[in-house]
Amino acid sequence: MTEQHWPEVYKKLGVKPVINAQSWVTSLGGSLMRPEVLRAMDEAATAFVDMKELNRAAGEIVARACGSDMGLVTAGCAAAEVLMAAACMTGVDEANVEQLPDTTGMKNEVLMFKGQRNRYDGAFQVPGARIVEFGHVDSALPYHLESAFTDQTCAVAYVMGPFIRHGLGLEKTIEIAHAHGVPVIVDAAAEVPPRDNLSKFIKMGADMVAFSGGKGLGGPQSAGLLAGRQNLMEAAYANSLNLDSPKAAIGRPMKVSKENLVGMVAALELYMDTDEIAMIDEWRSKASYIARKLEGIKGLRVVIEDTPVDRQGPQPVIYFERDWTGPSPAVVRQTLLDGNPSIRVGGGGMRDEINVVMVNVQDGEEQLIAERLLEALT
Ligand SMILES: *Cc1c(COP(=O)(O)O)cnc(C)c1O
Repeated sequence: MTEQHWPEVYKKLGVKPVINAQSWVTSLGGSLMRPEVLRAMDEAATAFVDMKELNRAAGEIVARACGSDMGLVTAGCAAAEVLMAAACMTGVDEANVEQLPDTTGMKNEVLMFKGQRNRYDGAFQVPGARIVEFGHVDSALPYHLESAFTDQTCAVAYVMGPFIRHGLGLEKTIEIAHAHGVPVIVDAAAEVPPRDNLSKFIKMGADMVAFSGGKGLGGPQSAGLLAGRQNLMEAAYANSLNLDSPKAAIGRPMKVSKENLVGMVAALELYMDTDEIAMIDEWRSKASYIARKLEGIKGLRVVIEDTPVDRQGPQPVIYFERDWTGPSPAVVRQTLLDGNPSIRVGGGGMRDEINVVMVNVQDGEEQLIAERLLEALT
């Protein structure tokens, strides 16, 4: 690979493409949509439709993929978090829906394990909910959750993601919440692949589950999925799509275009037919290539890791040992970023390490990444 492809539309704006070895991160554009998805979006752009009808039809495909009563295409997982919290507060009461973000007269406390607080959870607060923490930063016991319920509790939120602590675990959380008659809402933004996760948490009893559409699913970057129980999903629809009422709902700033709706559905259907094993094998072979190139450097330990949840696909992780005398991980990352083309790698997990995530590495780019890593390290 010599000259990197610079799409004209970006060139005109003076924005250079980067090599994404950091994963499905929002800051680099999520994922690349497959040609079939782009064609579907192009086609969607050629006609007007009734948006309520289109949303319901797309929602049915989401529901089928997730094994839930109902589904909805949202403007991303964070938008789905807004709608989940809103739905748990308003129910299908129209006056409540109109009143948000003023929650007077509604239950508005969302319980969250302290160790799962994360950079996205503000989305739960957008419609006016209050987050009430339980447990310690690194652990929680059942009684922590038990004693957090009040007559204002509207939901228990559970979050899954790389290096996010599990706390009580989803199963126990659901058991306790349901014993108190409170629904569990799940942020599973980046938990696909594996495809099984689309339906797994619903099967476990979660009441609503949200996924990003523009991460592993390969849909539009500003799309996502929401799936769940009938009554709560009707409430989510009301908070998102009350197109005929005089006052727009809390979800109005998160509307989904017809092109994104159709693109998301196309990506989801393609994903359902994807050979996940072949896809992961491809990531593993790129990961091995890079790991082999970095073999035998004194002070470095390069391991291919593939821990479910924490690691997005097989990836070389570079650990800097005590006898390492070269540049620090931060300096190496910066050198890669400053190069041409700019290469973005992961900042590791719990420790200061470098992880090179393959899920968005295009064919051939692994060679350039290995070369540039070697240069930056030695
Ligand atoms: C990416 C992510 C989000 C946000 O998802 P979007 O689809 O970008 O809105 C929320 N929660 C977690 C854990 C995430 O990883």
